[in-house]
Amino acid sequence: MSDSTDRSPPGTPLSDEAIQQGKVLTLEWPSSLRYAWDTGVAIGRFLAELKNGRIIGRTCHKCERVLVPPRMFCERCFRPTDGWRFVQDSGAVNTFSISHLRWDASRIEDPILVAVIEIDGASSGGFLHYLGEVKPEEIGIGMRVKAVWKPPEERTGSIRDILYFRPFDAAQDRPS
Ligand SMILES: [Zn+2]
Repeated sequence: MSDSTDRSPPGTPLSDEAIQQGKVLTLEWPSSLRYAWDTGVAIGRFLAELKNGRIIGRTCHKCERVLVPPRMFCERCFRPTDGWRFVQDSGAVNTFSISHLRWDASRIEDPILVAVIEIDGASSGGFLHYLGEVKPEEIGIGMRVKAVWKPPEERTGSIRDILYFRPFDAAQDRPS
C-alpha cells in the first residue's frame, strides 16, 4: 500500500446514466422469500391439540411434573420426558400486564390485558395469553380463569385458537 491520501478504489465508477441506458448488465429478480417453521414433536402435537380444543402436556416420571407447553426433554432431570397428558383449559393468573400502549407506542383507550396462565393439571409454569370479559381493576394474581375457544371450524392449530381467558364461573364451569 502506498500512503496516498486518495482512498477511492481503482476503476471507473458507474453512473446513473449508464444504468438507466442499459450500458451495464442488470438483473431483475422477483424474489419469493417464503419460509417454513418446524415446530418440532412437542409443540407440533400441542398446536394440533389446540385445533381439537384441548391442551396437552408432557409428563416426566422422575420429577412427576406435567410440562405445559410440552417439551420432549425435562430440563430439571436432564432426561427425555415420558408421555402425553391432557390438562384442563382452565387455570390461574400467575402474573399479568395492563398495556395502554400499542406496539407502535401510541395510546389506546381499552387496554390490552395479558397474563401468564398456570394451567390446571400442569406443574408450575404455563403460557402467556390474553384476558377478556374482565375489567383491568378486577384482575389479580391467582384469579381463576377459563379458556374461550374459537369455533372449531375457525381453528388453525395456533395458540390463537384460544381467543382469551375469562374469569372462571363456578356455576357454569364445572371441572371436566
Ligand atoms: Zn423431570
